[in-house]
Amino acid sequence: MIIDGKAIAAKVRAEVKAQVAEIEARAGVKPGLALVRVGNDPASEVYVRGKVKACLETGMQGFEHILPEATAQLELLALVRKLNADPRVHGVLVQLPLPKQIDAGAILEALAPQKDVDGFGPHSAGALFSGRPGLRPCTPLGILRLLDEAQAELSGARALVIGRSNIVGKPVALLLLERNATVTLAHSRTASLAEEVARADVLVAAIGRAEMIKGAWVKPGATVIDVGMNRNAAGKLCGDVEFAAAAERARAITPVPGGVGPMTIAYLLSNTIQAAKAQLGL
Ligand code: NDP
Repeated sequence: MIIDGKAIAAKVRAEVKAQVAEIEARAGVKPGLALVRVGNDPASEVYVRGKVKACLETGMQGFEHILPEATAQLELLALVRKLNADPRVHGVLVQLPLPKQIDAGAILEALAPQKDVDGFGPHSAGALFSGRPGLRPCTPLGILRLLDEAQAELSGARALVIGRSNIVGKPVALLLLERNATVTLAHSRTASLAEEVARADVLVAAIGRAEMIKGAWVKPGATVIDVGMNRNAAGKLCGDVEFAAAAERARAITPVPGGVGPMTIAYLLSNTIQAAKAQLGL
């Protein structure tokens, strides 16, 4: 089975659209998402534009704030505090990376936890770690939804997550643990990665190295989620997993592109709904 991330993300966005209408009907306000970009990183420009567009398509309000590259940390902190206090804004996203004069950690700390729709702030991370309610990071939420849509059995399954970043690997591992998988978290110092892969019923690769996970390593019948976004030697977009060979052994697998990619924005919107409902007491 090829797991169709585009179709599943469209379903999530349709769910969000219905909830926007419901919130408006019940509370008389539209959920609002503020997107903050500092500087002119070309990838960030593309990401933020995509997020604003997706946000407006659901009927939510989008507030875009573009600050110059030379913005001082204090200025950005002042904007974050203003957005924290703005009742029209239910979610705030500060696009990373930030220019070098700004400490991203300080910005995330200043963000109101109930508006931290990226789920990267210390309060959200702590809530995830200790299993308390809170906003979870978007890509990991999208990955869990893909696994559910593919009807992967998680409880009791051996799950291998490769990559331990704060934005993908670590939170995915915690979400899988919450769902009672037996989780292994691998990284660049892991010995015998091929053997770890061969044992995994559920494999999540979040490395950032083109096709480094060989199809022949994959356990027959496994479910494979490929988070990587890379260019191969021919300049073609590809994942961390050797797709064609892995697809012959896996029960279900995500393609790149069209797998995890579309889920991130969908869950940003879904998190904004969760945040708006909590703030409006719905
Ligand atoms: P990071 O670079 O932050 O983390 C990469 C992880 O991979 C690290 O933990 C690193 O280990 C591990 N790693 C590197 N080399 C190896 C190796 N040879 N064997 C085993 N593990 C290795 O990346 P991100 O988590 O931010 O992103 C990972 C990938 O996912 C990227 O391709 C990125 O573009 C993509 N991505 C896609 C998203 C989407 O589709 N929406 C969203 C976010 C990311 P160590 O810690 O030891 O250095």
